[in-house]
Amino acid sequence: MVYLDYAATVPLLPEVIEAMHKAEKNLYANASALHTPGHLAMNEIERTRSLLAELINAEPEEIIFTSGASESNNTVIRTFSGCQIETSPLEHHSIIEAARVLKGSRLPKLYSYMLANNETGEFLQLPEIERDEFGDSPLFEAKNDWGKPLVTERRKAYLHSDLTQVLGKIPVDVKQLGLDYATFSAHKIGGPIGVGALYVRKGVPFKPLIIGGNQENKRRGGTYNTVGIAGFGAALDYVKREKTWEQYDKKIRKLRDELARRIEVEITGSSLNTDIAPGASLPNILNASFKAAEGESIQLYLDAEGIIVSTGSACAAGDTKPSHVLMAKTGDAEVAHSSIRFSFGLESSLEDIRRVMEILPGVVDKLQKVSTIKL
Ligand code: PMP
Repeated sequence: MVYLDYAATVPLLPEVIEAMHKAEKNLYANASALHTPGHLAMNEIERTRSLLAELINAEPEEIIFTSGASESNNTVIRTFSGCQIETSPLEHHSIIEAARVLKGSRLPKLYSYMLANNETGEFLQLPEIERDEFGDSPLFEAKNDWGKPLVTERRKAYLHSDLTQVLGKIPVDVKQLGLDYATFSAHKIGGPIGVGALYVRKGVPFKPLIIGGNQENKRRGGTYNTVGIAGFGAALDYVKREKTWEQYDKKIRKLRDELARRIEVEITGSSLNTDIAPGASLPNILNASFKAAEGESIQLYLDAEGIIVSTGSACAAGDTKPSHVLMAKTGDAEVAHSSIRFSFGLESSLEDIRRVMEILPGVVDKLQKVSTIKL
């Protein structure tokens, strides 16, 4: 099989599987319990927390574990329920839909802009936000158990970024990026599905999405997913140890650019939806459209040949609407309907590219021949 859908999910790393097996066997206790097995489980959770904090230049207390990026995104948006919320049109649906339902007219304002898009891999410019002081808001009223205000940065605006696709691909420094909130997901770096994290800068507004438990300093109720968090930790170990950024970038970019070059040269009616110039996109994603060939059909024909790709984002699969990302980018429903996302990982090889180019031109040609759309 040629798996080129790493942006949807990265296969579990062997060391993640091992870490999760170990945790299943040894760290079964409820991590909130005060007995020794409970402490052992909590130690593992704190190890992952410290690792993530270190990798993104945050403090461990600023990391909250969640069930994934969708929950992290919903948590931030819901914190600003009733407030002004501005997002880029390219955001994941867990931002766009939550903002649509929850936004209002009050201040402070939340800006949510991803750093790189999951369908095209292209970088976005984070907005300049108004950082001036702002007086009163119900969002500033939260106090800790001793009555001290939790919100110490009372500002007009705050900045969130969904870094789900970015972690493990390029270095991340939340301070340098000027972020107040940031979203992460374990399964995009070789960890398990169903585990994520939210960075919440000390002193900014926060409202838990799940209440009724003291876990995560009362910021996210629910018994700790020790096994999943242990897997997340092993994936973070891998990111920290194995990937010198330059090496990762060089290897993956070479494959991506080779596929881009061959698609452009060898397939009539093809166009790239990813700007592959250095500095324009993540190295691991290539989105391309094939005029007069439907993306879903291409995907199914490739699947039958053991080549796994996706049309836009997997989260929207089964949705017959064209990708909102490609619509926002190109304004052309035909381009959006005929798009395929190829995404690469460390196991990808030039042999994979060769195999894709053995099959893809014929598939596109076959579909173009029966299409009513003229080339
Ligand atoms: N945000 C982005 C940018 C994503 O790519 C994804 C996964 N497709 C998500 C959020 C949702 O992640 P999760 O599966 O962890 O909820």
